[in-house]
Amino acid sequence: MRAAVLRDPKIGLQTETIKTPQPRDGEVLIKVAACGMCHSDLHVIGGKIAFPVPCVLGHEVTGEIVQVGPGNQHTGLEVGQHVAGAFLMPCGQCEFCAEGRDDLCAPFFDMNRLKGQLYDGETRLFGVDGETIAMYSMGGLAEYCVIPSTSVAVLDDSMDMVAGSILGCAALTGYGAVRRGANLQYGETVAVVATGGIGSNIIQVAKSFGAAKIIAVDVADDKLEAARALGATHTVNSTTENVRAAVFAITDGRGVDVAFEALGRPETWASALDCLRDGGRMVPIGLGAGTQSAAVEINRTVRRSQSILGSYGARTRQDLPTVIKMAAEGNIDYRSIVTRKFPLDAAGKGYTLLAAGKIQGRAVVDMSL
Ligand SMILES: [Zn+2]
Ligand SMILES: [Zn+2]
Repeated sequence: MRAAVLRDPKIGLQTETIKTPQPRDGEVLIKVAACGMCHSDLHVIGGKIAFPVPCVLGHEVTGEIVQVGPGNQHTGLEVGQHVAGAFLMPCGQCEFCAEGRDDLCAPFFDMNRLKGQLYDGETRLFGVDGETIAMYSMGGLAEYCVIPSTSVAVLDDSMDMVAGSILGCAALTGYGAVRRGANLQYGETVAVVATGGIGSNIIQVAKSFGAAKIIAVDVADDKLEAARALGATHTVNSTTENVRAAVFAITDGRGVDVAFEALGRPETWASALDCLRDGGRMVPIGLGAGTQSAAVEINRTVRRSQSILGSYGARTRQDLPTVIKMAAEGNIDYRSIVTRKFPLDAAGKGYTLLAAGKIQGRAVVDMSL
């Protein structure tokens, strides 16, 4: 099969022919329809997050199940089903998975995120000469990929398979931030700092959860306009306005109940913390580069009883089916978030544009191109 392989961050992605993977116990093989292009791939492509090479990236996919591995008797999964695959692939067996905390699955972090393996300690990807190729999540930038059955959910027949690829990371993480991280309540006020792929989804999920005000904060007017179309009630351009002053003016001098941060930079952390009301919750979702830190004003956080509630992905097994349902029912407009489609051969070009801040919403690799 063809796959976009990363061998050297200095060279970037190259399309190569590698072996088509085989599913093992509790896994399925899918023929990839599309794979979303996410900022966290960029950290690996740019060499800022350590990950073994050669590897295949791509961690939000849709496709058709073409083979069901052994040990899937109770999953309901069958050949021919159209599914979305989530980046956060719970092992289903560890202590955290037993608590339903898929977001904390220890083998996922230790084996997949650090070593590019699945939970028997091996990858499913090999070069034609048998060379071991690491997989970042399922390695979705390829014609086929193996996914643990814990991490796929069946799409509604009405859904667009190509745009649907963003459900497994951008939408899932947005939902997790609102439902799990913030536990957003009806009528609360919200700010969303950075309105790219994940921020766009947070806005929509917050709207369907009944947020009273949704304030989009970004550096680009075109992104803010898009955010308004998705449900933001107010916008603040942080390059021309003081974020704290603007947000406090919009919220009658109180600040927001919840500020989401979706980029993982010190300046966006500062903006999100600056938006908070007394007792407010700041929910960071964006991943920083390596071991980056952000400043937190100690006394304000303490005296105003403000919380910082990190949120990583969501609880895949419970939340991915909900996200798909919200998308099928129109509560997550996944179609208009996808603004660019690239063929597999041009994936590297797409990530270059993403790194330069030139992608509004989300770009995807469409395997039919
Ligand atoms: Zn992602
Ligand atoms: Zn686990």
